[in-house]
Amino acid sequence: MTTTDCLFCKIVAGDIPAAKVYETDTTLAFRDIGPKAAVHVLVIPKAHHADLPALGKADPALAGEVLAAAGAVAEAEGLLDGGFRVIFNTGPYAGQEVFHVHAHVLGGEPLGPMIA
Ligand code: 5GP
Ligand code: ZN
Repeated sequence: MTTTDCLFCKIVAGDIPAAKVYETDTTLAFRDIGPKAAVHVLVIPKAHHADLPALGKADPALAGEVLAAAGAVAEAEGLLDGGFRVIFNTGPYAGQEVFHVHAHVLGGEPLGPMIA
């Protein structure tokens, strides 16, 4: 997978539209196209890394920036009081479909069991 055929790299480049909710120099957050909760936002590094282990090895500071962005999104979306969940699906058992690392930020309603 290269950045030229990566869906989320195309969103970063502006070649595919997305409902952006938060952005920094190094991160971007946008609404999931198929929301699994009342609030469902994806947070990505703008640079291409396939998954969380790859990102952590290549650029741990950027991994921290993604986490900070996830927290900022939760606050901006009004999720701090009710609570929320942050998930990095990684690999086949977790059903990862897009191999540009992304945090799912889920909330806005009770979320049910952890594995779902
Ligand atoms: P994964 O299963 O890889 O953890 O999650 C990929 C997520 O990307 C899914 O929740 C899916 O709904 C979302 N998604 C797939 N294609 C698009 C798209 O073109 N735009 C947006 N905003 N989300 C997408
Ligand atoms: Zn990418």
